Formats: sequence, C-alpha cells, structure tokens
Amino acid sequence: MFDALKERLDGIFKNLRSKGKLTEEDVALALREVRRALLEADVHYKVVKDLVERIRERAVGRDVLDSITPSQQVVTIVFEELRDLMGRDVVPLVISPKPPTHYMLVGLQGSGKTTSCVKIARRLLKGHKPLVVACDHQRPAAVEQLRVLAAQAKVAFFGPEPGEKDPVGVAERALRFAADRLHDVILFDTAGRLHVDEPLMEELQAMKALLSPHEILLVVDGMTGQEAVNVASAFNERLGLTGVVLTKLDGDARGGSALAIRSVTGVPIKMAGVGEHLEDMEPFDGGRMVQRILG
Ligand code: GDP
Repeated sequence: MFDALKERLDGIFKNLRSKGKLTEEDVALALREVRRALLEADVHYKVVKDLVERIRERAVGRDVLDSITPSQQVVTIVFEELRDLMGRDVVPLVISPKPPTHYMLVGLQGSGKTTSCVKIARRLLKGHKPLVVACDHQRPAAVEQLRVLAAQAKVAFFGPEPGEKDPVGVAERALRFAADRLHDVILFDTAGRLHVDEPLMEELQAMKALLSPHEILLVVDGMTGQEAVNVASAFNERLGLTGVVLTKLDGDARGGSALAIRSVTGVPIKMAGVGEHLEDMEPFDGGRMVQRILG
C-alpha cells in the first residue's frame, strides 16, 4: 500500500534535499506538493488542510530556514506530523485483568470482519483460550464461514441454533458456554450490512449493553478510501469505538484512510490485515507505516 503516495513524496523530498538554503517560497512549493500527494492518496481534505497548516507553521520559522540543514528539517517536520496523525505507537488490544475479556467486531459486509475475527482469535491462542461467537444471523452463510475459518485456525466456535434469529440471545448463551469451558477472551462477530442503517445500529447497541465489551473494533476495508472515514465516524458516534482493524493493506490501497481515520475519529488503528491467510494480521504500527511512506 501507499506506493502512489510514497512515489509522490519521494519526488518532493528529493527536490528539497538537493537544495541547501531554503526560502519561504521553496517551503510553500513543497507543501503544495505534499498537499496534492495526500489528497491523491485519498486523505480527507480537512485533514490535509490542518496538517499542511501545522507543517507550514513549523517549517517557515527562522530557526528552520536559517539552520544549516533547512531542507532536512522540513522533511523531518513532515515525517513527525504524519507520524502523529497516524498515531505514534502501537496500541495493543486490551486484555482485561479480570477475565473474561469481550471483543465486539463490527463493520460493513465485505470489510473482512469475519476473517479478522478469526485472525485475531488465532493470535490469542498463544497464552489464551479464545472463543469466537457468530452473531450475524441475517446471513446463515456468515455463520458457516466463521465456523469453517475457526476450525481451520483451531479456535473454539459458538453459533446459533438452526433458525435462531436473536443475536443478543445467542450472545447470552455464549457467555454461559464460555464460562463453563473457561474461555478467557470472547470475540463476537456481529452482523454486517451493505450500508450503515438504523436496525443494524440498534442491534449492535443492544449487544453492547449486554456485553460491556472491552473492545469494540470496527473492521474497515483499507481499499475504500474516504468512505472508510465516513463509516468509521458513523459507527463511532453510535457505539463509541475503541479501535479500528484496517484490512486489505496488502492490496494497492492508496492508504489515505489510515491517515485520516485516526485524526477524524480519534480512534486508534490497532490491527492491520495484510492478506487472505489466517496468519496475515499484525499490530498496526503508525510510525513504521509513515517510515514506509516516506522511505
Ligand atoms: P465480512 O463480510 O466483513 O465478514 O468479510 P469477510 O471476512 O468475509 O471478508 C471478505 C473478503 O475479504 C474475503 O474474501 C476475505 O478473504 C478477504 N479479506 C479479508 N481480510 C483481508 C486482507 O487483509 N487482505 C486480503 N487480501 N483479503 C482480505
């Protein structure tokens, strides 16, 4: 991911680096290019505007322009601001000191929610006894998919009885099932829809009320660009998200969504899906991601 953005920024920085003394005009020109590159990478325009303004304020100070290496300093400022926007550190998934820990995975259909649920559970097998619970009862195929993936990953599975339509009821039974078998992390795969809609949000709020989850993780398709930010905002307003799982980062996503989700919603991106296999999930590292963008 980020290849397009990286290419553009590389060009800008090469120009800057080759200059010794910088003028305010040089900085303005470079920032115009930074702005264009970020917009092309699908970063939300408001995020870009604020970011460029912050960079400008820091970069045109005399201490930068009059320094021995002004262009290097501007490059550093751009790096630092992008890194802050992306989140400086890896933000780990919460494990409650008092088990069981409850995770709710939410998101639109096709975002990679079910796959991510199993991928995260699989990572927890080291040191924990996770259980995945199918709460997407609109689509029997989704229940079956979770069952199959869980079996592949050797993760315990709990699902509805045939014909059972009440996800909150299933979640309640899952809690008893987990208590009997000493599962310490329970991951609830909730229903996804093609669009954010009222019945979906009400169902998710009812589940939240039952579970008091330690994490409400929104799974977002990293390929969806600015739309990802709108989806994240809508879910966050109604549910209060604790983290985002950004999927399909192995594709040629322009990646602007990663930069923007954090700054628009304030919710940290915690995990990154980087492939179709069940082991293709890793903690999201904002600093490393920016390093990769800027080269
Ligand atoms: P859901 O409808 O949100 O539960 O989405 P699924 O978990 O069924 O995923 C939809 C499709 O995206 C499936 O074909 C997954 O294999 C694929 N997928 C999920 N995560 C990733 C990822 O990180 N990388 C790639 N390449 N494909 C992914």
